[in-house]
Amino acid sequence: MKINTSEFIISAVKRAQYPMDGFPEVAFVGRSNVGKSSIINSLTNRKMLARVSQTPGKTRLVNFFLINKEFYIVDLPGYGYAKVSKKEKESWGKTIEMYLTGRQQLKRIVLLVDCRHKPTGDDIMMYEWIKHFGYDVVVIATKSDKLSRMNLKKSEKVIRETLKLTKQDKLYFFSSLNKVGRDELIDHIFEEPVH
Ligand code: GDP
Repeated sequence: MKINTSEFIISAVKRAQYPMDGFPEVAFVGRSNVGKSSIINSLTNRKMLARVSQTPGKTRLVNFFLINKEFYIVDLPGYGYAKVSKKEKESWGKTIEMYLTGRQQLKRIVLLVDCRHKPTGDDIMMYEWIKHFGYDVVVIATKSDKLSRMNLKKSEKVIRETLKLTKQDKLYFFSSLNKVGRDELIDHIFEEPVH
């Protein structure tokens, strides 16, 4: 698949603002700073489609990007930022739950984890939540340029074990800096739910 066009559609706060045209959706979620904006920009070949290093406090926004006028990339708010208040955390939970509940267009969730670190309690919770809601999950370990080949192997094992991934769950590594394997990754993430 080739990504030809990508347009920002809306930062939704309420369900009523979600697009209603029924196009399939692939959602991206992960800890703040995991590299979510960077990977969305790399995959779409845009510099600023998703804002890199957004300051926290945007925990209520669900951003929709229309790709090739045929499906959406949905950018869910990041979690696990140390400095957010309890209220902010609750607001994040409500936002995610509102989006994940009965979203028929949602075909897959891409869970991002940092390849340098063991997945956190929040990452495990997010994975379990995705499974609980019954969505298909693909895990992407970000910032792979930061590890040697040997350490990537180790990281793969740690991520699989910590999140308790099933044999069917896909795990890919990616670097938004060198973008190696970008085209294949696009196929893995989008091809099958969209076509
Ligand atoms: P977000 O908060 O999850 O949207 O994360 P960002 O995309 O804003 O990235 C957070 C930080 O990690 C920024 O300083 C990025 O430049 C850096 N970053 C993102 N992706 C990569 C990557 O693949 N490799 C490296 N080395 N740094 C990255």
